[in-house]
Amino acid sequence: MSAVDTKDLTAQQAAWDIAASVCDPEIPVLTIADLGILRAVEVDDAGGPGATAGKPAVRVTITPTYSGCPAMEAIRDDLAAAFAAAGHQHISVETVLAPAWTTDWMTEAGRAKLQEYGIAAPSGHSGAGGHSGRVRLALAVQCPQCRSLNTREITRFGSTSCKALYVCQDCKEPFDYFKVL
Ligand SMILES: [Zn+2]
Repeated sequence: MSAVDTKDLTAQQAAWDIAASVCDPEIPVLTIADLGILRAVEVDDAGGPGATAGKPAVRVTITPTYSGCPAMEAIRDDLAAAFAAAGHQHISVETVLAPAWTTDWMTEAGRAKLQEYGIAAPSGHSGAGGHSGRVRLALAVQCPQCRSLNTREITRFGSTSCKALYVCQDCKEPFDYFKVL
């Protein structure tokens, strides 16, 4: 049955690629895979009553970033649209809240893209489950323009609740900082 296994894997990978192409509505340079929002993609290749010729039913699992982010609805719609465009007619999106999303799930590629986009990437680790909260606050936030560490928080809530607004005291440029969570 190895041929079937291979086919399943291929379908699984293809479905993952479709889901991973969906971008975050708030930071369009990042995909939901970059952010670590995309947790799982399962395909049902069993050919049950819900299956249509060729394209299996797909179940996508996502974990929201910040609870205040209104982006999840948009991500659901975008996932449905992406799979519909690829010919899938049956897709369900499940939102899983535990374990809670952390900036640690953001990929290295995602962090690099964020920096290029002009948003300071989360520095350090969340220390989820640890007691590093106070240490984290002491970490300097680097200016994405000139790399200076001489920056200051202007407001805890920037353009969205996910980001804080900072200003660089060297180049005087304001920038968004993607908060560590
Ligand atoms: Zn600067």
